[in-house]
Amino acid sequence: MLKGRLGCSLLSSTRRTFITRVTVTHQQAPRSLSLARYSSQSGSNSGSNNSSSTGRKDSWRTMAESDISRYLQETHDRVFDHNRAWAAEQSKNDPEFFTKLSAGQSPDYLWIGCSDSRIPAEQITGLEPGEAFVHRNIANLVVNTDLNVMSVINYAVRHLQVKHIVVCGHYGCGGVKAAMTPKDLGLLNPWLRNIRDVYRLHEKELDAISDETARYDRLVELSVVEQCRNVIKTAAVQQSYAKNQFPIVHGWVFGFGDGLLKDLKVDHEAMLHGIQKIYNLTE
Ligand SMILES: [Zn+2]
Repeated sequence: MLKGRLGCSLLSSTRRTFITRVTVTHQQAPRSLSLARYSSQSGSNSGSNNSSSTGRKDSWRTMAESDISRYLQETHDRVFDHNRAWAAEQSKNDPEFFTKLSAGQSPDYLWIGCSDSRIPAEQITGLEPGEAFVHRNIANLVVNTDLNVMSVINYAVRHLQVKHIVVCGHYGCGGVKAAMTPKDLGLLNPWLRNIRDVYRLHEKELDAISDETARYDRLVELSVVEQCRNVIKTAAVQQSYAKNQFPIVHGWVFGFGDGLLKDLKVDHEAMLHGIQKIYNLTE
């Protein structure tokens, strides 16, 4: 009941706010910057005719110091340009917007996603400021010795009383790809070990997939499901669910190809029963 109602609310909100944001972006976003543009300018200034993609890719190394300084200044300033435009637009649409924002937060969602710059949680879901408590790390992992994610879950569940916890992975995840590479990756080893452990848990299924991309995609999905299980293992989630019937844990995967979220349809109730023989922390 609760799940269905909140789900519908998210869907309608998503459509409405997405349209608004597209409009704002086209009207007000300052022109985007890229190193390539600066590099080609730099190349023409110095008389270079090297326009191959390889040359352009490396040409920032030979950019004039003044071009690099200008690029750094403009990429810094554009954020403030965007911020001023965004603040003005919010106030124009709702003069009480920032007064309401200052009053406090009561988000329905905790979002645990990947740090990858291409998956901004609010933009792809249409959630507004105040609607999602967000935690992101490399490959959206929920590690029980990570004080950061454990603090986030604890605070979100016990104090904010979120109704949904979403673990959102994405196809093409560099962290998962790195974990599939049998190689010493230094400081990343202990972090990626968590994904390698997921591979070991599902070794038979994954090894049976001959296509490497399909195997990689499946590991992304299996890791998300495993991180959902890790969320459900926490005392905060188990105790809140026993008392309030929420939060519900969801596993989603974002695809760059079409921009859509795939719901892995994690069965919260079944997963909870599955882990409680060993991990029951409700007593
Ligand atoms: Zn990623």
